Amino acid sequence: MQIRCRNCNRPYGLKKEEVLAALDTMHAEEQKYYQSHCPHCGKNNLVSQKELQRSAPSWTPAKTAEKLEE
Ligand SMILES: [Zn+2]
Repeated sequence: MQIRCRNCNRPYGLKKEEVLAALDTMHAEEQKYYQSHCPHCGKNNLVSQKELQRSAPSWTPAKTAEKLEE
């Protein structure tokens, strides 16, 4: 997914694996936002769970739970 840095205003990409890992972590730790590190200026951008889920519609909390039980 593409993120536009709120600090330097430059876009950068987030890999699908990063998005899925972020969703897993947020779900496990009950966080609403993911802190994404801008590769241009080094500042963190807050990305909401909704935004991440939009780029990874196949992710569901139930699937994560199944994965953990395996
Ligand atoms: Zn930046």
